[in-house]
Amino acid sequence: MSQVPPASLSCSTCEACCCRLEVLLITDTGVPSQYIKKNPHEISTMLRLADGWCAALDRNTMRCSIYEVRPLICREFELGEADCRSERAKFGY
Ligand code: SF4
Ligand code: SF4
Repeated sequence: MSQVPPASLSCSTCEACCCRLEVLLITDTGVPSQYIKKNPHEISTMLRLADGWCAALDRNTMRCSIYEVRPLICREFELGEADCRSERAKFGY
């Protein structure tokens, strides 16, 4: 069971660090094709830009621009869990 994260730990105090991770598309949630990197012999992934961020990240708001159809992995990534904390730490948050 996930724990409630401390109030200081918020996505608004982090520049979408987790949106720099590789995201495998293991189910079809309706991600628009322009955001998908096709890997011929492997599972496709979210396209990442040269600076590492996911192509679907809105750079003005630093929020997901395809939230309603975001990949399963993004839906399951939880604020305050170990992976969130380690990504924040990598970027000094
Ligand atoms: S790393 Fe954690 S705090 Fe930062 S955007 Fe992702 S879920 Fe939110
Ligand atoms: S699809 Fe959305 S939530 Fe997932 S990595 Fe890209 S911008 Fe972040």
